[in-house]
Amino acid sequence: MPEIPELEAIRGFFNEHLPGRAIAEAEARIPVVFRTGAAAIRETLPGDTFGAVGRHGKFLLFGLGSGRVLAINPMLTGRFQYVEATTKLAAKTCLRLEIAGGRSFRYRDDRLMGKIYLVGSDQLGLIPNWTENGPDLLDPALDEGRWLARIKKYRGQIKSVLTRAEFVQGIGNAYADEILWEAKINPYVPRTKLDDEQLRELFRSARAVMAWAAPLVRANMVKGETLDYEERREFMRVHRLGGKACPRCGATISEITANQRITSFCRTCQPELPA
Ligand SMILES: [Zn+2]
Repeated sequence: MPEIPELEAIRGFFNEHLPGRAIAEAEARIPVVFRTGAAAIRETLPGDTFGAVGRHGKFLLFGLGSGRVLAINPMLTGRFQYVEATTKLAAKTCLRLEIAGGRSFRYRDDRLMGKIYLVGSDQLGLIPNWTENGPDLLDPALDEGRWLARIKKYRGQIKSVLTRAEFVQGIGNAYADEILWEAKINPYVPRTKLDDEQLRELFRSARAVMAWAAPLVRANMVKGETLDYEERREFMRVHRLGGKACPRCGATISEITANQRITSFCRTCQPELPA
């Protein structure tokens, strides 16, 4: 699942390449992902021009000259491409936008769980859960004090809290493991057992992990003028590295699968707290 580092790398690339470019042709190929209808994409995007590209939680927000926004949440398996127009279409390509000047913007999604909305820039609140969800992890207004006040409203295991969009947006299963490893906190500890300093450390670790990962992710998906995003995370230090040595202490990394989610952690660096 793309999380903040992947989405930020994609946003950064498109912000360098799309603003000011006109859409010559729009093909909505697999209707199920178009939550505001495929016809509007097909009929009203050609002739429109890309503006700035933003991000809010798991949504990439492609501003348009018409004052609308193409909002895309790739969910688990949505992938973006920016390639030569002659590049062969990948399977499950849902959206293809031909850009004036010869490039092709594509969104493909193997499991078709992604969601694409075309709305006015003042209508983002109509997207389900938009207003109920918490701030983005990288929101400048989210400082350590606000993080501390927010996180204390949640009980349950700390990893589950970190991945709840109502608390904070943008952290998924993979980077939650990396953040907890960075902070030396056991993923199964109840939030209520962590003291203020540990909760503050989690904030600092969350921001640090995002800053560390972003350039690594970008190097994987961007080659010159081309973006081709496949999920490659060989740089990770703990997530999905069960059985390997912890890069900090050398102990064997543990891996537990529950509810179809893998949790990887180091029992030495991230010990269970005394009862
Ligand atoms: Zn360790």
